[in-house]
Amino acid sequence: MTRFMQLIVFVALCCSLSAAQAIVAPEGKHNVLRSDDNGRPASTRAIEGVMSSADILEKAEQVIFTADGSRVSSVRGRFAFERRESSEAAVRAFLLAHRSLFNLPDDRSMLEFSGDRSGGGSRQFNYQMRICDIPVEASEIAVYVGNDNEIVLINGSFPIVGEIANSISLDAAAAIAIAEKQLGLQKRRINSSAERLIHVEENVGRVCYRVHVAAAQPLGDWELLIDAESGAEVSRRNLMRFYDGKGSTYVSHPLKCEPTVETLPDLIDGTLKGRYADIHNDETANAVSEDGTFVYPTHNLHFNEAMMYYLVNRVHAYFSGLGFDRLDSPMKAVVRYDVLYDNAFFSVLENALYFGDGYKFNDLAREESVCFHEYAHAARHQIVKLKYEGEAGAIDEGVADYFSASLSDDPIVGEFIVAKMNKPWLRNLSEAQHHYPESIVGQVHEDGKIWGCTLWGLRVRLGAATADRLVLNSLYYLSPDATFLHGLNALLLADENTSAGKNSAVIREVLAARGICEENSRRYIFSGRQIRQIIHFESLHNN
Ligand SMILES: [Zn+2]
Repeated sequence: MTRFMQLIVFVALCCSLSAAQAIVAPEGKHNVLRSDDNGRPASTRAIEGVMSSADILEKAEQVIFTADGSRVSSVRGRFAFERRESSEAAVRAFLLAHRSLFNLPDDRSMLEFSGDRSGGGSRQFNYQMRICDIPVEASEIAVYVGNDNEIVLINGSFPIVGEIANSISLDAAAAIAIAEKQLGLQKRRINSSAERLIHVEENVGRVCYRVHVAAAQPLGDWELLIDAESGAEVSRRNLMRFYDGKGSTYVSHPLKCEPTVETLPDLIDGTLKGRYADIHNDETANAVSEDGTFVYPTHNLHFNEAMMYYLVNRVHAYFSGLGFDRLDSPMKAVVRYDVLYDNAFFSVLENALYFGDGYKFNDLAREESVCFHEYAHAARHQIVKLKYEGEAGAIDEGVADYFSASLSDDPIVGEFIVAKMNKPWLRNLSEAQHHYPESIVGQVHEDGKIWGCTLWGLRVRLGAATADRLVLNSLYYLSPDATFLHGLNALLLADENTSAGKNSAVIREVLAARGICEENSRRYIFSGRQIRQIIHFESLHNN
């Protein structure tokens, strides 16, 4: 059918429904024939399905199509049905009489009655499509019989399955093993399960296993479709319900803002263990709130927990926005650690963050840049396990400061925590004096200032969006004992492979301004040209 013909049919159908409206809906209800919101127009086949049913045309009050327009999503109206030996038999006869409307195949064994139930003033009869006794995904049809014994609503229709394109070579246990491996499962809450179904895409069916994995790590109620022949992952979703709560926090720190109540995203069960953050209190029991309200005055022992939950989610969202997904699990963070403890740290062995409440320092959990710095260590660790000494350790600290400063859009790190000691900041990435190699003193935080200030210089030149991605991508090119010169190479390679090298001149310029270039490297280096000269020299002498 041409588009023009389709339009005529569509208009004719609307007209005939409008005519019917005067009879069945005299109180002026609107008849509409349209696709779901934001959906595509109904396909020719779907429209023909409606056209083929005289009583649907006459008595339907509304027909809604699926979002892709390929088939009927629901039909509302009042449809009488014949008396049969049972109500189910009568409903089945009604469906079979409207075979093309609901895409019922000729083989009646594919229409399986899956049960009935009562509720909301009607009785609901449920059907599903089965091929060779395997249920077909998204093929549920529910027929509602109202209290006046007429069909008042039909939800759903069968998908069109032109062919089954694969066969079964895996068993359920193999499918579960594949799904758990694909998820990177570290810990399950209950045993995983798998059942066969037919997944339909573009009218082609594939037998798959629907695998359910209730995982503690990565946290979720995961549902994966695994191809029953190839073992390929067809789809994945997390069925776990997360909810947003609210909690007290400083969005930056007490010198910059008043405490406010902010959204705490992705909570699960009334504690501050959510989808991406798992907050513990080392001084008292962890905070609990059934309705997700973690609002406390600043002197309350739970205030730091709510603030840490807020901050960890913010820094997680920041790294997600850069395309980083290796910490998509609840990051453990402990506040009020130890007694008057004057530091914060990232534990490599636990993959956890710890924050003391300070003695000489102000409370380390109450400054966003401290949390962001420690989290950045954790993120970096997922990409490269840098040695915590020498220039590798300095790169580690510089990168942590860079991400912390970039996310808070402020080159100053640790302003609040050192205010108690009358210092203006712990580190300031806009300082000019840190220069390689003469500023090297052999302490990772001190030497890290050179690298941190260098990266901040890139951000000033390239903008935050470009520099953030560049710095993150460069980490993939580092080895554990990287030096600043390796760091320069890593930035150039990341730029070359993600931005066609368009920032290479700026990268070389900014790093050279900090003394980071081949000439200043403390390693023994040959340039490619020198190597070729040596080979040439040797070949001359050997001859
Ligand atoms: Zn650090």
